[in-house]
Amino acid sequence: MYTKTLGLVLRETEYRDSDKLLTVLTRARGKVTLRARGVRSRRSPLKSGCQLLAYSEFTLFENRGNFVVDEAVAQELFLPLRQDIELLALASYFAQVAEVLSREEDPDEALLSLTLNALSALCRPNPPQQKIKAAFEMRAACISGYTPLLDGCAVCGNTQPDRFLVRSGTVQCAACRQLGEEGLHLPLSPGSLTALRYLATCPPKRLFSFSLGEQSCRELSDVAETYLLTQLERGFFTLDFYKSLGVRPV
Ligand SMILES: [Zn+2]
Repeated sequence: MYTKTLGLVLRETEYRDSDKLLTVLTRARGKVTLRARGVRSRRSPLKSGCQLLAYSEFTLFENRGNFVVDEAVAQELFLPLRQDIELLALASYFAQVAEVLSREEDPDEALLSLTLNALSALCRPNPPQQKIKAAFEMRAACISGYTPLLDGCAVCGNTQPDRFLVRSGTVQCAACRQLGEEGLHLPLSPGSLTALRYLATCPPKRLFSFSLGEQSCRELSDVAETYLLTQLERGFFTLDFYKSLGVRPV
């Protein structure tokens, strides 16, 4: 049986002589594994649409729950990412996060859109990497059910708390920190608190358009990354690689 779906290639693995197994986040079926036959041979018509980070329309042949790619027509290849090792590394991290957060047979329009929008944001001239990364991480956490509670201090309700508690995803003021209290907390200036609230609630299309001072952006970046990794209880080799390149400032 043949079906068509749009999807973003999150991972590729070499398989047999000239095939690849692709992990694809599709609109119709959530995360799926596709077999692209002969795609590593030079003249394969599947080559373009089946590469890592390609967003393509796939025609699939389904046989007993296994999917083989019959045709792949690239809709968006995010070309600027393929010419810059830092951007490619950051985009690969976004793809790995999307892979970890998605499930099979469970379409997640919000996660797919977030990932596509983040890749598009990285393709603009001189993209602010730190800001885009923080926005992606915080929103990915929210989409996956880890929306932090940012309205006010978890102890006294003060609406201008100055620290973020990573484990619980809550905010607090310095004065309310109890003696002997455990757990990592990170500083929040008024600017980074405002940005954090914005990222948790703004419309998806507006996610990557906010302005922020350098210091606040550093804080936001710390909070977003630490929070996502703590909630998921894991690290990402793609993130380690990105960091090993030496991240450019905002
Ligand atoms: Zn307080």
